[in-house]
Amino acid sequence: MAHTESALPLKKLQGKVAIVTGGANGIGEATARLFADHGVRAVVIADVQDKKGQIVAESIGAERCSFVHCDVSDEKQVKAMVDFTVQKYGQLDIMFSNAGIPSKSEQTILDFNFSQFETLFGINVKGMTACVKHAARAMVEKGVKGTIVCTASVVATNCKGGTNMTDYVMSKHAILGLVRAASQQLGVHGIRVNCVSPTAIATGMAANTGLTSEGVQMVFGPFTPLKGIALTVKHIADAVLFLASENSAFVTGHDLVVDGGLISLPHIMVTEK
Ligand code: NAD
Repeated sequence: MAHTESALPLKKLQGKVAIVTGGANGIGEATARLFADHGVRAVVIADVQDKKGQIVAESIGAERCSFVHCDVSDEKQVKAMVDFTVQKYGQLDIMFSNAGIPSKSEQTILDFNFSQFETLFGINVKGMTACVKHAARAMVEKGVKGTIVCTASVVATNCKGGTNMTDYVMSKHAILGLVRAASQQLGVHGIRVNCVSPTAIATGMAANTGLTSEGVQMVFGPFTPLKGIALTVKHIADAVLFLASENSAFVTGHDLVVDGGLISLPHIMVTEK
């Protein structure tokens, strides 16, 4: 066939069942909405922000969106959330394991706080891994050749560390390891595992740094060669959609960087909350 593109549907996720963790806000919310625009049969939003999550789910529509309270740092809650999805909608095709938190303070190595490190790793690493594990199990059990996408960060992919946020930088490096290992192990089942690595964007997470959208632009703009465009959550959701859909059918173990060509990372102040 000369033109294979015409074989790909305009709605890229027609009939699929997806989970988005951290879907109550920011990147997760934008992705859940884009998944809905692209014809998912159902999208389950898993988050700890009940009110916000329910509002997002209702606005997408009760017939194809559910909110489930799930603290991803608790494996039992992750398993229950995946089980709920499979019981309600029959199977799971897409897991967007995205929930994460920033460093609570500067977390330089000289003043490293292990209690903060443990909380952050419980969500950013253990939580993301639990989501990959239970999504993969559900897919393997039903023989679904599904796709799993995690959210890493440019702090892991595009710089050699950082001037602060040591625990956060470490956690995002771990996600690259998770994606690489899981993609090798799950390929035999036809399951693809990839991640997106966004640069800084003013979501709920950015509140910790006190940065607004304009602030992010001012701080990161000089370090980004691509001019005349500001990063939005939709740009990241588009990258997730690509990795979740048949458009990336032969892509696995990949880290899709969404950073406008970021050269290096500026220092960001993190304030304890
Ligand atoms: P956000 O704060 O807007 O959204 C994160 C969501 O995760 C929130 O809805 C929050 O309630 C939820 N969450 C937090 N802890 C949770 C838990 N234990 N269980 C379930 N849900 C939980 O921030 P965001 O920027 O949309 O963050 C999404 C992902 O993107 C994170 O993994 C983050 O590390 C990553 N990221 C963000 C940036 C950025 O600059 N904002 C850059 C690179 C990567």
